Amino acid sequence: LKATSLTLLLGILTLSNCSPTDENQVEIGDDGNSQNYLMAATLFTQQSAEYTALCHQAYHLATMQALALAGQSSKPAIILDLDETVLDNSPYTAWQVIQDRPYSPDTWTLWVLQAQAEAVPGATAFLHVADSLGYTIFYISNRDTSHLKATMQNMADLGLPQVDTSHYLLKTNTSDKTERRDAVRQMGFDILLMVGDNLGDFDGAWDKPANSVQRKTLALAAASKFGVSYIVLPNTLYGTWEGAIMGYNRDLTEATRDSLRKQALQPANL
Ligand SMILES: [Mg+2]
Repeated sequence: LKATSLTLLLGILTLSNCSPTDENQVEIGDDGNSQNYLMAATLFTQQSAEYTALCHQAYHLATMQALALAGQSSKPAIILDLDETVLDNSPYTAWQVIQDRPYSPDTWTLWVLQAQAEAVPGATAFLHVADSLGYTIFYISNRDTSHLKATMQNMADLGLPQVDTSHYLLKTNTSDKTERRDAVRQMGFDILLMVGDNLGDFDGAWDKPANSVQRKTLALAAASKFGVSYIVLPNTLYGTWEGAIMGYNRDLTEATRDSLRKQALQPANL
């Protein structure tokens, strides 16, 4: 009994020691890690069955459309983005959180050159169906052209189809993919389906410096295309949506970025 009382007393003392006072509020989880904002997004991607289900839902729609449109063109093509569409880079953001390291081209390159990304759920099966139906597949990605070899190695290891240089259009001078989509059309292909996680994967309008309201207005205007000719994958980790919150300024400090995120929240009145 005495031991139990002592344990309880110690527990109470410890609790009161750790209790934040009004003058010195310590927020739970606020440990100064600038990358903690990625925690929930990364856990959702890596741990939720719902992320897996959403990806399969998207690729199921893509498969139904590919089947429905088969035979409607003599040169049918499907365009896919790579990152967070075909390749899962959530280990990179998990690394950011664990190491408290913001995104940088140098560390991103280290990750890409490892060529260890897993396929996004549903992507592999869809790509094989599209391949067998006679579609030419184009991978239009904003990975740097210097990453082509490692990217192809990664995708070949995953057993993905049409992994050769003629099927890749990586970033040369602009992240806007409009010119690369036009290049596919100029080769005589009919682009019947596009798959991506960022709306700029479908139309350059979403890649132009537009604020969040403008981007949503564009999405409403294109609503009838989603799940039909535009197949959208979920990406909670990053995207142009985040650039819009940051005013497309890549030179902001982590503190300013944190402040802009908080300003963008639309809270309930409680
Ligand atoms: Mg992407």
